[in-house]
Amino acid sequence: MTEVKYVFVTGGVTSSLGKGIISSSLAKLLQARGYSVTIQKLDPYINVDPGTLNPYEHGECYVTLDGAETDLDLGHYERFLNVPTSQANNVTTGRIYQTVINKERKGDYLGKTVQIIPHITDEIKRRIKLVGSGNKFDIVITEIGGTVGDMESLPYIESVRQLKWELGSRNCIVIHLTLVPYLSASGELKTKPTQHSVKALLEAGIQPEILVLRTEKSLNNDIKRKVALFTNVEEKAVIESVDVTTIYEVPLKMLDEQLDRTVLRKLELPVSEEPPLAEWREFLKRLKNPKHSVRVGLIGKYVELPDAYKSISESFIHSGARNECKVDVEYIHSEDITAENVNEKLHGLKGILVAPGFGSRGIDGKILTAKYARENNIPFLGICLGMQCAVIEFARNVLHLDGAHSTEINHKTRYPVIDLMEEQKSVSDKGGTMRLGGYKCSIAKGSLAHKIYGKTDIIERHRHRYEFNDRFNDDFKNNGMVPSGINPESNLVEIMEIPDHKWFIGVQFHPEYSSTVVNPHPLFVNFIKACIE
Ligand code: GLN
Repeated sequence: MTEVKYVFVTGGVTSSLGKGIISSSLAKLLQARGYSVTIQKLDPYINVDPGTLNPYEHGECYVTLDGAETDLDLGHYERFLNVPTSQANNVTTGRIYQTVINKERKGDYLGKTVQIIPHITDEIKRRIKLVGSGNKFDIVITEIGGTVGDMESLPYIESVRQLKWELGSRNCIVIHLTLVPYLSASGELKTKPTQHSVKALLEAGIQPEILVLRTEKSLNNDIKRKVALFTNVEEKAVIESVDVTTIYEVPLKMLDEQLDRTVLRKLELPVSEEPPLAEWREFLKRLKNPKHSVRVGLIGKYVELPDAYKSISESFIHSGARNECKVDVEYIHSEDITAENVNEKLHGLKGILVAPGFGSRGIDGKILTAKYARENNIPFLGICLGMQCAVIEFARNVLHLDGAHSTEINHKTRYPVIDLMEEQKSVSDKGGTMRLGGYKCSIAKGSLAHKIYGKTDIIERHRHRYEFNDRFNDDFKNNGMVPSGINPESNLVEIMEIPDHKWFIGVQFHPEYSSTVVNPHPLFVNFIKACIE
């Protein structure tokens, strides 16, 4: 194929309609039909990336293999498609403006007034086309964050209008996602919000080709016809997306609704027979018919907002299905755990995961949790800060290094078992300056990690500034906590484990970012297996 085709996904009526899931589901179906597809997210906020955002504001920050701190929707894209994303897949208004302003300072626009149209819109279009360049993809799906009508998304919508005009409607279509609310008092589904939101798009010069209507209750043909009539959209292209129990069912729903066929028809691309989705269906079958169930604790300080741990909870779903096991995740606030109540709080858990995090809030609860898991022989997976807490706990209670800590929390500690990485010491900017993205790790033969991965050379994604302090290496090794994974170039410790324990692993990296439906992460799969046993 010569031309790349572009599909834009916009949202109306309200936020949180699941544009990311619809985009991922469509991409999955197109991929299954043999097209190479990628998904991009455009975020209308001024932060250059979400790395500096509190998880309470925006959920988890997802990290790509190439080290970009991105929107959590990119996690869905990877989990559905099983194809890595990159920095180019997530662009924010901040990044757009930063590029344009840097160019202005360099004199690239010398003599010109720099304006939203054409300079900002040109940069947006350049970023959209950039993902499609290099003949890697047949179709690029670009999800526009926010809701149509928001002041912030105007430049994006305008860019889409221009692209449609430049590329023509056989190369560039818009799917608009809206909500059809159900009013229980009158027992009616209401289409007015959808009509208004399409009007807002039309005012911006965009006629959507396809509407996806999110709804609690199935829509009848009259409703679809009415929406079609009021919005100039072909009736067959008004598609319902009714609530389902798991996001992983959405691709099959969209297949039934022929979203993929409609998209291909509009883009004038060949439609194959039924796409092969055997692996996907097998996953769903296992997910819905578990033979076991385990209760696992996720100890973190952002538990009020489960989106803050999106990749972890999805990894539990993938690894649970692989083990034919329902994983009941109990979110436990680390601030609520004290020396007095730890036994009671964690009692009955078949496995414990201590989550990543930053700063001192809730750290004591995490350290107490690591101790509880170690002493009670409960499968333990510590991720990033979770591993650091396990190290601190071991130093204090097994090595008797009183007051051992991470210098992130106590920079005056006598025993800095977790310390700032050398290359971090001169860093002052907070944005994009951590150790980010994929790094190699060599696994020690014969370790639990080796058994789990089945190989010695792996690459995992990182997001941290602090690390295990090498100085204490021998002390730990001699007393039963061993570094079983090391970065072959920098010697940084990436995995710590306790060989005498049933299953105790701390990882400095983030396995949750690379778990997908088709390839559940081996650490999670094996952790759940240990919890079942
Ligand atoms: N705050 C710790 C560090 O920067 C851990 C980071 C994390 O858990 N992602 O090293």
